[in-house]
Amino acid sequence: MNTYDVVVIGAGVVGSSVAYHLSKLGAKSVLVLDRATIGAGTTAQSSGILRTHYSVKENVELAHKSWSVFNDFAAYLGDDEASCGLVKCGYMIVAAEGDKLEPLRASLDQQKAQGIPLEILDTAQARERMPIARFDDAALIGYEPEAGFADAYLTATSFARAARRGGVTIRENVSVNQLLMENGKVVGVSTSIGDFAAGTVISTQNIWTPELAGWTSKTLPVAPERHAVLALECAEAPYTFAMPVFKDLASEGMLYYRSYGGNQMLVSEGVVGEKLSVADPEQGDIPMDYVVDVGTQVAQRFPAYETAGIASSWTGVYDVTPDWNPVLGALPGIEGLVVGYGFSGHGFKLSPTVGKVLAQAALGLPTDVSLEPYSIERFATGALLTGKYGLGAVS
Ligand SMILES: Cc1cc2nc3c(=O)[nH]c(=O)nc-3n(C[C@H](O)[C@H](O)[C@H](O)COP(=O)(O)OP(=O)(O)OC[C@H]3O[C@@H](n4cnc5c(N)ncnc54)[C@H](O)[C@@H]3O)c2cc1C
Repeated sequence: MNTYDVVVIGAGVVGSSVAYHLSKLGAKSVLVLDRATIGAGTTAQSSGILRTHYSVKENVELAHKSWSVFNDFAAYLGDDEASCGLVKCGYMIVAAEGDKLEPLRASLDQQKAQGIPLEILDTAQARERMPIARFDDAALIGYEPEAGFADAYLTATSFARAARRGGVTIRENVSVNQLLMENGKVVGVSTSIGDFAAGTVISTQNIWTPELAGWTSKTLPVAPERHAVLALECAEAPYTFAMPVFKDLASEGMLYYRSYGGNQMLVSEGVVGEKLSVADPEQGDIPMDYVVDVGTQVAQRFPAYETAGIASSWTGVYDVTPDWNPVLGALPGIEGLVVGYGFSGHGFKLSPTVGKVLAQAALGLPTDVSLEPYSIERFATGALLTGKYGLGAVS
Protein backbone atom coordinates (compact mmCIF):
# COMPACT_ATOMS: atom_id res chain seq x y z
CA MET A 1 0.00 0.00 0.00
CA ASN A 2 1.37 3.46 -0.95
CA THR A 3 1.73 5.87 1.94
CA TYR A 4 1.23 9.66 1.92
CA ASP A 5 1.38 12.21 4.73
CA VAL A 6 -1.84 13.84 3.54
CA VAL A 7 -4.64 12.77 1.17
CA VAL A 8 -7.02 15.42 -0.20
CA ILE A 9 -10.40 14.21 -1.50
CA GLY A 10 -11.63 16.48 -4.30
CA ALA A 11 -9.82 18.69 -6.80
CA GLY A 12 -12.28 21.54 -7.13
CA VAL A 13 -11.04 25.07 -6.54
CA VAL A 14 -11.00 24.41 -2.78
CA GLY A 15 -9.15 21.06 -2.94
CA SER A 16 -6.66 22.45 -5.49
CA SER A 17 -6.01 25.47 -3.28
CA VAL A 18 -5.52 23.16 -0.28
CA ALA A 19 -3.05 21.09 -2.31
CA TYR A 20 -1.05 24.14 -3.38
CA HIS A 21 -0.90 25.48 0.17
CA LEU A 22 0.14 22.09 1.59
CA SER A 23 3.11 22.09 -0.78
CA LYS A 24 3.91 25.73 0.01
CA LEU A 25 3.82 25.00 3.74
CA GLY A 26 6.31 22.19 3.29
CA ALA A 27 4.15 19.04 3.38
CA LYS A 28 6.35 16.26 2.03
CA SER A 29 4.02 13.77 0.36
CA VAL A 30 0.52 14.80 -0.67
CA LEU A 31 -1.98 12.91 -2.82
CA VAL A 32 -5.11 14.54 -4.28
CA LEU A 33 -7.86 12.27 -5.61
CA ASP A 34 -10.83 13.26 -7.73
CA ARG A 35 -13.37 10.93 -9.25
CA ALA A 36 -13.74 13.28 -12.20
CA THR A 37 -11.20 15.86 -13.39
CA ILE A 38 -9.69 18.99 -11.83
CA GLY A 39 -12.29 21.75 -11.47
CA ALA A 40 -14.99 19.79 -13.30
CA GLY A 41 -17.36 19.61 -10.30
CA THR A 42 -19.39 22.61 -9.23
CA THR A 43 -16.33 24.86 -9.68
CA ALA A 44 -16.92 24.75 -13.44
CA GLN A 45 -20.45 26.11 -12.86
CA SER A 46 -19.41 29.20 -10.89
CA SER A 47 -20.32 32.78 -11.79
CA GLY A 48 -16.88 33.76 -10.53
CA ILE A 49 -17.80 36.91 -8.61
CA LEU A 50 -15.19 38.27 -6.20
CA ARG A 51 -16.15 40.81 -3.54
CA THR A 52 -15.68 41.30 0.13
CA HIS A 53 -19.25 42.47 0.74
CA TYR A 54 -20.60 40.19 3.44
CA SER A 55 -22.63 40.87 6.52
CA VAL A 56 -20.84 38.09 8.44
CA LYS A 57 -17.59 39.75 9.50
CA GLU A 58 -15.57 36.51 9.47
CA ASN A 59 -16.46 36.10 5.78
CA VAL A 60 -15.28 39.65 5.06
CA GLU A 61 -11.88 38.73 6.44
CA LEU A 62 -11.64 35.48 4.45
CA ALA A 63 -12.71 37.31 1.27
CA HIS A 64 -10.35 40.24 1.89
CA LYS A 65 -7.32 38.01 2.36
CA SER A 66 -8.35 36.01 -0.71
CA TRP A 67 -8.76 39.13 -2.85
CA SER A 68 -5.11 40.01 -2.38
CA VAL A 69 -4.26 36.59 -3.84
CA PHE A 70 -6.56 36.99 -6.88
CA ASN A 71 -5.20 40.50 -7.40
CA ASP A 72 -1.62 39.26 -7.64
CA PHE A 73 -2.22 35.67 -8.69
CA ALA A 74 0.82 34.91 -10.85
CA ALA A 75 3.22 36.30 -8.23
CA TYR A 76 1.42 34.41 -5.46
CA LEU A 77 1.85 31.13 -7.32
CA GLY A 78 5.36 32.03 -8.44
CA ASP A 79 4.38 31.30 -12.03
CA ASP A 80 4.40 34.12 -14.60
CA GLU A 81 1.99 32.19 -16.78
CA ALA A 82 -0.59 31.56 -14.06
CA SER A 83 -3.88 33.42 -14.43
CA CYS A 84 -7.18 33.50 -12.63
CA GLY A 85 -8.79 35.57 -15.41
CA LEU A 86 -9.37 38.53 -13.11
CA VAL A 87 -11.50 41.42 -14.39
CA LYS A 88 -11.17 44.16 -11.80
CA CYS A 89 -14.36 46.07 -12.48
CA GLY A 90 -15.57 46.80 -8.93
CA TYR A 91 -18.80 45.79 -7.18
CA MET A 92 -21.92 47.89 -6.75
CA ILE A 93 -24.73 46.98 -4.35
CA VAL A 94 -28.09 48.73 -4.19
CA ALA A 95 -30.96 48.70 -1.70
CA ALA A 96 -34.27 50.51 -1.93
CA GLU A 97 -36.35 51.65 1.07
CA GLY A 98 -37.40 48.50 2.93
CA ASP A 99 -36.08 45.64 4.99
CA LYS A 100 -32.68 45.35 3.21
CA LEU A 101 -31.72 48.98 3.69
CA GLU A 102 -30.48 48.97 7.29
CA PRO A 103 -28.72 45.58 6.98
CA LEU A 104 -26.87 46.96 3.93
CA ARG A 105 -25.92 50.14 5.80
CA ALA A 106 -24.69 48.12 8.79
CA SER A 107 -22.73 45.73 6.54
CA LEU A 108 -21.02 48.59 4.70
CA ASP A 109 -20.14 50.23 8.03
CA GLN A 110 -18.70 46.97 9.26
CA GLN A 111 -16.66 46.47 6.10
CA LYS A 112 -15.23 49.98 6.47
CA ALA A 113 -14.31 49.23 10.08
CA GLN A 114 -12.49 46.14 8.79
CA GLY A 115 -10.41 48.30 6.46
CA ILE A 116 -12.15 47.55 3.14
CA PRO A 117 -11.93 50.39 0.59
CA LEU A 118 -15.56 51.43 0.05
CA GLU A 119 -17.53 54.34 -1.38
CA ILE A 120 -21.13 55.39 -0.92
CA LEU A 121 -22.38 56.70 -4.26
CA ASP A 122 -25.20 59.07 -5.11
CA THR A 123 -27.37 58.16 -8.09
CA ALA A 124 -25.41 60.40 -10.50
CA GLN A 125 -22.11 58.76 -9.51
CA ALA A 126 -23.71 55.32 -9.80
CA ARG A 127 -25.03 56.13 -13.27
CA GLU A 128 -21.55 57.19 -14.36
CA ARG A 129 -20.19 53.75 -13.49
CA MET A 130 -23.28 51.87 -14.62
CA PRO A 131 -24.96 53.88 -17.41
CA ILE A 132 -27.23 51.03 -18.49
CA ALA A 133 -29.06 50.83 -15.11
CA ARG A 134 -31.76 52.99 -13.56
CA PHE A 135 -31.38 54.11 -9.95
CA ASP A 136 -34.58 56.06 -9.20
CA ASP A 137 -35.57 53.63 -6.39
CA ALA A 138 -32.08 53.46 -4.84
CA ALA A 139 -31.92 54.49 -1.17
CA LEU A 140 -28.33 53.36 -0.62
CA ILE A 141 -25.59 52.47 -3.12
CA GLY A 142 -22.33 50.92 -1.97
CA TYR A 143 -19.32 50.58 -4.26
CA GLU A 144 -16.27 48.41 -3.68
CA PRO A 145 -13.49 49.31 -6.17
CA GLU A 146 -11.29 46.34 -5.20
CA ALA A 147 -13.64 43.68 -6.55
CA GLY A 148 -14.68 42.06 -9.81
CA PHE A 149 -14.87 38.58 -11.21
CA ALA A 150 -12.53 35.80 -12.32
CA ASP A 151 -12.59 32.30 -13.79
CA ALA A 152 -13.04 29.59 -11.18
CA TYR A 153 -12.00 26.73 -13.48
CA LEU A 154 -8.81 28.56 -14.52
CA THR A 155 -8.09 29.29 -10.86
CA ALA A 156 -8.53 25.64 -9.88
CA THR A 157 -6.30 24.35 -12.67
CA SER A 158 -3.67 27.00 -11.89
CA PHE A 159 -3.60 26.01 -8.20
CA ALA A 160 -3.36 22.36 -9.26
CA ARG A 161 -0.49 23.04 -11.66
CA ALA A 162 1.38 24.97 -8.96
CA ALA A 163 0.72 22.15 -6.48
CA ARG A 164 2.13 19.59 -8.92
CA ARG A 165 5.19 21.77 -9.39
CA GLY A 166 5.53 21.71 -5.60
CA GLY A 167 5.60 17.91 -5.60
CA VAL A 168 1.92 17.07 -5.03
CA THR A 169 0.51 14.01 -6.84
CA ILE A 170 -2.95 14.61 -8.33
CA ARG A 171 -4.85 11.59 -9.65
CA GLU A 172 -8.02 12.13 -11.67
CA ASN A 173 -10.77 9.59 -12.34
CA VAL A 174 -10.18 7.95 -8.96
CA SER A 175 -13.10 7.55 -6.58
CA VAL A 176 -12.62 7.48 -2.82
CA ASN A 177 -15.02 4.83 -1.54
CA GLN A 178 -14.21 4.75 2.17
CA LEU A 179 -12.24 6.47 4.89
CA LEU A 180 -9.99 3.99 6.70
CA MET A 181 -9.93 4.44 10.48
CA GLU A 182 -8.46 2.67 13.47
CA ASN A 183 -9.45 3.55 17.05
CA GLY A 184 -11.00 6.86 16.03
CA LYS A 185 -7.96 7.86 13.99
CA VAL A 186 -7.66 8.25 10.21
CA VAL A 187 -5.21 5.78 8.67
CA GLY A 188 -5.99 6.18 4.96
CA VAL A 189 -8.54 5.90 2.19
CA SER A 190 -9.93 3.05 0.14
CA THR A 191 -10.35 3.97 -3.54
CA SER A 192 -11.32 2.60 -6.94
CA ILE A 193 -7.61 1.87 -7.59
CA GLY A 194 -6.74 0.44 -4.18
CA ASP A 195 -5.97 1.64 -0.66
CA PHE A 196 -3.64 4.50 0.30
CA ALA A 197 -2.27 4.95 3.83
CA ALA A 198 -2.30 8.49 5.29
CA GLY A 199 -2.42 9.90 8.79
CA THR A 200 -4.28 13.00 7.62
CA VAL A 201 -7.20 13.29 5.19
CA ILE A 202 -8.76 16.56 4.03
CA SER A 203 -12.23 16.31 2.51
CA THR A 204 -13.22 19.04 0.05
CA GLN A 205 -16.10 17.05 -1.42
CA ASN A 206 -18.65 19.87 -1.63
CA ILE A 207 -22.12 18.48 -2.50
CA TRP A 208 -20.77 14.95 -2.12
CA THR A 209 -19.94 15.50 1.59
CA PRO A 210 -22.85 13.18 2.59
CA GLU A 211 -20.55 10.32 1.46
CA LEU A 212 -18.14 11.37 4.21
CA ALA A 213 -21.02 11.49 6.69
CA GLY A 214 -21.76 7.86 5.78
CA TRP A 215 -18.11 6.77 6.17
CA THR A 216 -17.76 8.46 9.58
CA SER A 217 -21.32 8.09 10.95
CA LYS A 218 -21.18 11.82 11.71
CA THR A 219 -24.00 14.28 11.04
CA LEU A 220 -22.71 16.75 8.45
CA PRO A 221 -25.60 19.07 7.57
CA VAL A 222 -25.54 20.04 3.88
CA ALA A 223 -28.16 20.04 1.12
CA PRO A 224 -27.70 20.26 -2.66
CA GLU A 225 -29.57 23.13 -4.26
CA ARG A 226 -29.70 23.87 -7.97
CA HIS A 227 -29.47 27.43 -9.33
CA ALA A 228 -29.87 28.71 -12.87
CA VAL A 229 -27.61 31.25 -14.55
CA LEU A 230 -28.60 33.17 -17.69
CA ALA A 231 -26.45 35.07 -20.19
CA LEU A 232 -28.54 37.77 -21.87
CA GLU A 233 -27.53 39.68 -24.99
CA CYS A 234 -28.45 43.29 -25.70
CA ALA A 235 -26.59 45.13 -28.46
CA GLU A 236 -28.16 48.53 -27.54
CA ALA A 237 -26.87 48.44 -23.95
CA PRO A 238 -23.78 46.23 -23.72
CA TYR A 239 -22.66 45.32 -20.20
CA THR A 240 -18.96 45.99 -20.70
CA PHE A 241 -15.99 44.79 -18.66
CA ALA A 242 -15.62 48.38 -17.39
CA MET A 243 -19.00 48.15 -15.60
CA PRO A 244 -19.10 46.77 -12.07
CA VAL A 245 -20.56 43.54 -10.81
CA PHE A 246 -24.03 44.55 -9.62
CA LYS A 247 -26.13 43.28 -6.71
CA ASP A 248 -29.77 44.33 -6.63
CA LEU A 249 -31.18 43.90 -3.13
CA ALA A 250 -34.27 45.78 -4.32
CA SER A 251 -35.28 43.02 -6.73
CA GLU A 252 -37.52 40.14 -5.70
CA GLY A 253 -34.88 37.55 -6.59
CA MET A 254 -32.04 39.65 -5.12
CA LEU A 255 -30.41 39.30 -8.53
CA TYR A 256 -26.68 39.54 -9.14
CA TYR A 257 -25.14 40.59 -12.44
CA ARG A 258 -21.79 40.86 -14.17
CA SER A 259 -20.48 41.35 -17.67
CA TYR A 260 -20.20 38.13 -19.65
CA GLY A 261 -18.12 39.73 -22.41
CA GLY A 262 -19.22 40.97 -25.81
CA ASN A 263 -22.74 42.36 -25.46
CA GLN A 264 -23.64 39.89 -22.77
CA MET A 265 -24.80 40.13 -19.17
CA LEU A 266 -24.66 37.21 -16.74
CA VAL A 267 -27.54 37.19 -14.27
CA SER A 268 -28.69 34.86 -11.53
CA GLU A 269 -30.85 34.86 -8.43
CA GLY A 270 -29.56 35.33 -4.89
CA VAL A 271 -32.36 33.42 -3.19
CA VAL A 272 -33.17 29.78 -2.38
CA GLY A 273 -32.91 27.50 -5.42
CA GLU A 274 -34.35 24.12 -6.41
CA LYS A 275 -33.75 21.61 -3.62
CA LEU A 276 -32.39 18.29 -4.92
CA SER A 277 -32.80 14.94 -3.17
CA VAL A 278 -29.34 13.75 -4.26
CA ALA A 279 -26.05 15.42 -5.17
CA ASP A 280 -26.35 15.66 -8.94
CA PRO A 281 -24.34 18.31 -10.78
CA GLU A 282 -25.88 17.43 -14.18
CA GLN A 283 -27.71 20.17 -16.04
CA GLY A 284 -31.32 20.72 -14.97
CA ASP A 285 -34.30 22.26 -16.75
CA ILE A 286 -34.68 26.02 -16.75
CA PRO A 287 -38.46 26.54 -17.09
CA MET A 288 -39.70 29.33 -19.37
CA ASP A 289 -41.66 30.79 -16.42
CA TYR A 290 -38.36 31.24 -14.58
CA VAL A 291 -36.79 33.00 -17.57
CA VAL A 292 -39.79 35.33 -17.90
CA ASP A 293 -39.76 36.09 -14.17
CA VAL A 294 -36.02 36.86 -14.06
CA GLY A 295 -36.23 38.73 -17.40
CA THR A 296 -38.95 40.98 -16.00
CA GLN A 297 -36.82 41.86 -12.98
CA VAL A 298 -33.79 42.49 -15.22
CA ALA A 299 -35.81 44.90 -17.39
CA GLN A 300 -36.96 46.81 -14.31
CA ARG A 301 -33.31 47.61 -13.48
CA PHE A 302 -31.88 47.62 -17.03
CA PRO A 303 -34.71 48.95 -19.27
CA ALA A 304 -32.95 48.22 -22.58
CA TYR A 305 -32.90 44.53 -21.65
CA GLU A 306 -36.67 44.29 -22.12
CA THR A 307 -35.88 43.09 -25.64
CA ALA A 308 -32.72 41.13 -24.76
CA GLY A 309 -32.24 37.60 -26.06
CA ILE A 310 -30.86 34.60 -24.18
CA ALA A 311 -27.35 33.82 -25.41
CA SER A 312 -26.81 30.83 -23.11
CA SER A 313 -27.86 29.37 -19.78
CA TRP A 314 -26.76 26.69 -17.36
CA THR A 315 -27.47 25.31 -13.93
CA GLY A 316 -25.11 24.72 -11.02
CA VAL A 317 -25.47 23.15 -7.60
CA TYR A 318 -24.73 24.80 -4.24
CA ASP A 319 -23.70 22.88 -1.10
CA VAL A 320 -25.99 24.65 1.35
CA THR A 321 -25.59 24.43 5.13
CA PRO A 322 -28.26 25.53 7.63
CA ASP A 323 -26.69 29.00 7.99
CA TRP A 324 -25.43 29.32 4.40
CA ASN A 325 -21.81 29.40 5.56
CA PRO A 326 -19.04 26.83 5.29
CA VAL A 327 -17.78 24.26 7.75
CA LEU A 328 -14.00 24.52 8.06
CA GLY A 329 -11.49 22.61 10.17
CA ALA A 330 -11.09 19.41 12.12
CA LEU A 331 -14.03 17.10 12.65
CA PRO A 332 -14.30 16.48 16.40
CA GLY A 333 -13.94 12.87 17.48
CA ILE A 334 -11.90 11.77 14.46
CA GLU A 335 -8.19 12.39 14.69
CA GLY A 336 -6.58 13.30 11.38
CA LEU A 337 -9.71 14.43 9.52
CA VAL A 338 -10.16 18.03 8.27
CA VAL A 339 -13.14 19.22 6.22
CA GLY A 340 -13.98 22.22 4.04
CA TYR A 341 -17.49 22.17 2.62
CA GLY A 342 -20.84 23.98 2.65
CA PHE A 343 -19.84 27.09 0.72
CA SER A 344 -23.50 27.68 -0.13
CA GLY A 345 -22.83 29.41 -3.46
CA HIS A 346 -20.02 31.74 -2.34
CA GLY A 347 -16.89 29.59 -2.02
CA PHE A 348 -14.87 30.68 -5.03
CA LYS A 349 -14.05 34.12 -3.66
CA LEU A 350 -12.89 32.52 -0.39
CA SER A 351 -10.92 29.67 -1.93
CA PRO A 352 -7.35 31.01 -1.65
CA THR A 353 -7.55 31.66 2.09
CA VAL A 354 -9.75 28.65 2.80
CA GLY A 355 -7.17 26.44 1.07
CA LYS A 356 -4.42 27.97 3.17
CA VAL A 357 -6.17 27.66 6.53
CA LEU A 358 -7.30 24.08 5.86
CA ALA A 359 -3.71 23.18 4.97
CA GLN A 360 -2.49 24.90 8.15
CA ALA A 361 -5.09 23.06 10.26
CA ALA A 362 -4.12 19.72 8.71
CA LEU A 363 -0.43 20.33 9.40
CA GLY A 364 -1.08 21.40 13.00
CA LEU A 365 0.04 24.99 12.33
CA PRO A 366 -1.64 28.16 13.64
CA THR A 367 -4.32 29.25 11.15
CA ASP A 368 -4.34 32.75 9.55
CA VAL A 369 -7.93 33.24 10.76
CA SER A 370 -9.73 31.51 13.59
CA LEU A 371 -11.68 28.47 12.42
CA GLU A 372 -13.78 28.34 15.55
CA PRO A 373 -16.75 30.28 14.09
CA TYR A 374 -16.81 27.82 11.17
CA SER A 375 -16.79 24.71 13.36
CA ILE A 376 -19.32 21.94 12.71
CA GLU A 377 -20.27 22.21 16.37
CA ARG A 378 -22.15 25.46 15.77
CA PHE A 379 -25.10 23.50 14.37
CA ALA A 380 -25.42 21.67 17.70
CA THR A 381 -24.71 24.65 19.97
CA GLY A 382 -26.83 27.10 17.96
CA ALA A 383 -23.93 29.56 17.53
CA LEU A 384 -24.81 29.96 13.85
CA LEU A 385 -23.02 32.39 11.56
CA THR A 386 -25.97 34.72 11.16
CA GLY A 387 -25.43 37.90 9.18
CA LYS A 388 -27.20 41.23 9.27
CA TYR A 389 -29.74 40.13 6.64
CA GLY A 390 -30.68 37.16 8.85
CA LEU A 391 -30.15 33.51 7.96
CA GLY A 392 -30.31 32.90 4.23
CA ALA A 393 -28.84 33.31 0.78
CA VAL A 394 -27.25 36.70 1.53
CA SER A 395 -24.44 36.02 3.98
C1 LIG B 1 -24.17 28.45 -10.29
C2 LIG B 1 -23.10 28.79 -9.30
C3 LIG B 1 -22.65 30.10 -9.21
C4 LIG B 1 -21.67 30.43 -8.27
N1 LIG B 1 -21.18 31.70 -8.25
C5 LIG B 1 -20.22 32.03 -7.36
C6 LIG B 1 -19.69 33.34 -7.36
O1 LIG B 1 -20.10 34.19 -8.15
N2 LIG B 1 -18.71 33.63 -6.46
C7 LIG B 1 -18.27 32.71 -5.55
O2 LIG B 1 -17.42 33.05 -4.71
N3 LIG B 1 -18.74 31.45 -5.54
C8 LIG B 1 -19.70 31.10 -6.43
N4 LIG B 1 -20.19 29.83 -6.46
C9 LIG B 1 -19.68 28.86 -5.48
C10 LIG B 1 -18.32 28.32 -5.85
O3 LIG B 1 -18.24 28.12 -7.24
C11 LIG B 1 -18.13 26.99 -5.09
O4 LIG B 1 -18.26 27.25 -3.69
C12 LIG B 1 -16.75 26.39 -5.33
O5 LIG B 1 -16.46 26.28 -6.70
C13 LIG B 1 -16.74 25.00 -4.69
O6 LIG B 1 -15.50 24.40 -4.90
P1 LIG B 1 -15.21 22.99 -4.23
O7 LIG B 1 -13.81 22.66 -4.54
O8 LIG B 1 -15.66 23.03 -2.80
O9 LIG B 1 -16.25 21.98 -4.91
P2 LIG B 1 -16.25 21.22 -6.32
O10 LIG B 1 -15.72 22.08 -7.41
O11 LIG B 1 -17.63 20.70 -6.51
O12 LIG B 1 -15.22 20.06 -6.11
C14 LIG B 1 -15.50 18.92 -5.33
C15 LIG B 1 -14.75 17.78 -5.98
O13 LIG B 1 -14.78 16.66 -5.13
C16 LIG B 1 -14.79 15.51 -5.95
N5 LIG B 1 -15.27 14.38 -5.13
C17 LIG B 1 -16.34 14.37 -4.31
N6 LIG B 1 -16.46 13.17 -3.68
C18 LIG B 1 -15.42 12.41 -4.13
C19 LIG B 1 -15.00 11.08 -3.87
N7 LIG B 1 -15.68 10.28 -3.04
N8 LIG B 1 -13.90 10.63 -4.50
C20 LIG B 1 -13.19 11.43 -5.35
N9 LIG B 1 -13.56 12.70 -5.63
C21 LIG B 1 -14.65 13.20 -5.03
C22 LIG B 1 -15.74 15.88 -7.09
O14 LIG B 1 -15.54 15.08 -8.22
C23 LIG B 1 -15.39 17.35 -7.30
O15 LIG B 1 -14.47 17.56 -8.36
C24 LIG B 1 -21.16 29.44 -7.39
C25 LIG B 1 -21.60 28.12 -7.49
C26 LIG B 1 -22.55 27.79 -8.44
C27 LIG B 1 -23.01 26.37 -8.53
